[in-house]
Amino acid sequence: MPYQHLLRNPAGELQPAPWAPGKVVCIGRNYADHARELNNPVPAEPLLFLKPATAMVSLRQPLRLPQGMGSVHVETEMALLIGRPLQSGDAEEALLAGIAGVGIGFDLTLRDLQNRLKEAGHPWEKAKAFDGACPLSEFVDCSGLDWGNVELELQRNGQLQQRGNSSQMLTPVPALLRHIVEFFSLQPGDVVMTGTPAGVGPLASGDQLAARLADRLQVSTTVL
Ligand code: ZN
Repeated sequence: MPYQHLLRNPAGELQPAPWAPGKVVCIGRNYADHARELNNPVPAEPLLFLKPATAMVSLRQPLRLPQGMGSVHVETEMALLIGRPLQSGDAEEALLAGIAGVGIGFDLTLRDLQNRLKEAGHPWEKAKAFDGACPLSEFVDCSGLDWGNVELELQRNGQLQQRGNSSQMLTPVPALLRHIVEFFSLQPGDVVMTGTPAGVGPLASGDQLAARLADRLQVSTTVL
C-alpha cells in the first residue's frame, strides 16, 4: 500500500490525513553533541536537505533496509506534519499554527556512502533520500506542547541508544521553520525533520526499536 500520513484524533483513533505525502525537509547537525560524534563542524547556519515523498514509509511496519550498500544508521528525530501552506514572510505564530501534528521520524542514512559523497564534495541524496529512507510514525496533536522542551528517546534491543531534548537544538523549531521557508515553501502533507541527538548507530537485521516522544507518543518496530 502506498504510504499515507496518519493522524491520531482526539478519540485516540488513527485516521488518514487529508493530504498526500509531499517532501521532507531535514536539518543536519541540529544537536551539537551529534555533530561532534561524527567529527562534523557545528554549522554557522542550518544545514538543510530534502527527501522525496518516495522516501516515506510507515514506521509501524518492519523496516526494510537497502542491501549491499554498507552501514545504515538510524537517526531518531521529532517530525512535524505541515497542514497549511507556509511561505517566506509568514509570521512565527502562523508558521507554528501550520503544524498539524507531531510524530517520530527515522532519518535513515547510508553512512559509508554518505562519507564517500561528503569527501568528494557531492550531494548526499543517494545516502539520505532512497526509497524507505524516512520511516514515520503517526502524528499526534501538538497543542500545548512546549517546542523548546520535548524529550526524545530511542531504545534498541532494550538498551538506551539515543536520548535528547529539543532544548539542546542549535536551531529551535520556530527559527527552523522561519529558515526553511526562506528557501522552500511548505505545503500541507510536507514533513519537517528537526535533527537528531547523539547516539546514532548502525542497524542490524532483527533489531527491535522503540522510540518515545515526551509523553505523547511511543512506537516500536523491527528491522527485517
Ligand atoms: Zn538527521
